[in-house]
Amino acid sequence: MPSTPPPLPPRLSRRLSTRRRLVGVVAGALVAGVVPVAGAGCITDGYAAREPPRPPAGPERADDRPDDRPDDRPDDRAGSSLAPTTDPERRMVVHLLDVGQGAATLIEFPCGAMLIDTGGEQNDAFDAVPRLKEQLDAFFDRRVDLRRTLDLLVITHPHIDHVRGLPMILREYVVKNVVDDGRPGDDLVTEQLRALRDYIAAHDTGYRAVDETALISKGGLRDDVVDPFRCKAVDPSVRALSGAVPRDPGWGTDNYGKMHFDNENNHSVVVRVDFGNASLLITGDLEEHAIAGLLERYRGTRWLDVDLYQVGHHGSHNGTTRALVAAMTPHVALISMGPERRHVPWTAWTYGHPRADVIDRLERGVSSSRPHTTVDVASGPKKFSSRGLDKAIYGTGWDGAVDVVMDVDGRIEVLTPAPAPGARAVR
Ligand SMILES: [Zn+2]
Repeated sequence: MPSTPPPLPPRLSRRLSTRRRLVGVVAGALVAGVVPVAGAGCITDGYAAREPPRPPAGPERADDRPDDRPDDRPDDRAGSSLAPTTDPERRMVVHLLDVGQGAATLIEFPCGAMLIDTGGEQNDAFDAVPRLKEQLDAFFDRRVDLRRTLDLLVITHPHIDHVRGLPMILREYVVKNVVDDGRPGDDLVTEQLRALRDYIAAHDTGYRAVDETALISKGGLRDDVVDPFRCKAVDPSVRALSGAVPRDPGWGTDNYGKMHFDNENNHSVVVRVDFGNASLLITGDLEEHAIAGLLERYRGTRWLDVDLYQVGHHGSHNGTTRALVAAMTPHVALISMGPERRHVPWTAWTYGHPRADVIDRLERGVSSSRPHTTVDVASGPKKFSSRGLDKAIYGTGWDGAVDVVMDVDGRIEVLTPAPAPGARAVR
């Protein structure tokens, strides 16, 4: 695999240094980034399913840092010294791509890249497929050493807002390994899943369907397909913590009489990534019944304890429970959703994403802060209002694409390189 990645492009580097100066000047008002984390846990000792290591001494991690606001951590005010390292071998970057209502998350490691989902929104005002290609092309233009290769593509579940870009991805880039939940999907995704099956059959592509029977231990599933990365200085760890459920655990029906078990959301592949002391969790569109199952599986362990949470189900009322937030103790939360302003079907506006009660839950559980901003949140479908936000909760519908730099020591910096494209004239 390629070794040393080139530095960030000048534009991003400039933003990094600008942000660092700002942190130094007005520390109390800014998030960003500077959140040293004790013992978030990386598994670097082969494939043994072991829990993330605990902090060397002292209380549980959650109690270690009840609040990381700069005001409460005078040592953090120094600014630049606490920003993530600029050594590209010792950091990963989580790129929450802007695909409107849907999801696509690119994780950049020193020696490779993985993409989780290939959403999202498509209507007269916005088309996620060219937007996704544009963002990935820009990434691979910078990381020419990766030769337009995704070492891993994860499809959390076969819904169109997560698979729409699949044919384009498989046409434009090399995909070495694919992980999904093994479910066939419905008529809306026939073309996309056929493209995936054909690609895997025609190439030397690793494939793993994650279901409960594959999860042999409490540490989830980690093998050469789920984690193909072998970075030299710091080796990332990727594992699937949950996947398709073979039999209905008795989840019952929703308000429309539909079985929760028949809802693809509840079979989402759940992914945890560790990079040194940095960690993140992506739960796809898992809803509350399945989230309860995830919590039960990992009860008494630290596998769900992470620094960065990609908010489940686009901030839907049923995608993030209080108990999940308590188990994660995240510093930063990212929501992949569309902006409120596109008033057509299948958008954040029609679904009412993100929900105010989820933002309330996250505000209580997310420990870092962001510069004060005003955002749109929903009390129901098509019902939005504005509110202030100070915690480190970011969303593509508010911020456009979001980059989170996480270094091996657990320091985090959040960058919002551009305003949401829809804020300007739609191209
Ligand atoms: Zn979705």
